[in-house]
Amino acid sequence: MTTDIDREKKILELLQKQGSASIQELVEVFGVSNMTIHRDLNKLEKAGSIQKKHGGVSLVSQPPAEDPGHCAMCNKIISERTIFIVQLESGEQKRACCAHCGLMIQSQSKDVLQSLTADYLHGHIISANQAIYILGSDLAICCMPSVLSFGLRQDAEKFQKGFGGTIANIEETLQYLHQMMHAHQ
Ligand SMILES: [Zn+2]
Ligand SMILES: [Zn+2]
Repeated sequence: MTTDIDREKKILELLQKQGSASIQELVEVFGVSNMTIHRDLNKLEKAGSIQKKHGGVSLVSQPPAEDPGHCAMCNKIISERTIFIVQLESGEQKRACCAHCGLMIQSQSKDVLQSLTADYLHGHIISANQAIYILGSDLAICCMPSVLSFGLRQDAEKFQKGFGGTIANIEETLQYLHQMMHAHQ
């Protein structure tokens, strides 16, 4: 028996893999009632993670149209190009100016449902867990040392050729930020 939160996470994982799914498909995959799936989807929709459409559901590919506001970490005005969103299981959303602040928020938060970040090259929203990061490139963007997110490794490599920096996955990036914080203390 999976809990609601487990199932919500799995729904998001499934959508990250295949982009969209029908209600019927989710009912079959998770072996729960139509009503249960609708309840899960309503919660995820409220959290801004997904959008429902005719008989199905897909991941939100665009950040909400509202003003992205200020970073929850450093209070800088958030640019859609570097936005990082941490979604908590409570439905609360913490938004950051860039992956540097976003990953700090993520590592300090309990009950993270998922994190999303903007692909620096293309501007669309991607899963932070699967993103490729460039650490400390020559391009001084947002918080230093800069952490930029890319959906594709080849894009990150192209960027690295021009602007330097180190390519890292999310764990390596978290470690790097952790070491930075200790160096400052
Ligand atoms: Zn910030
Ligand atoms: Zn920043």
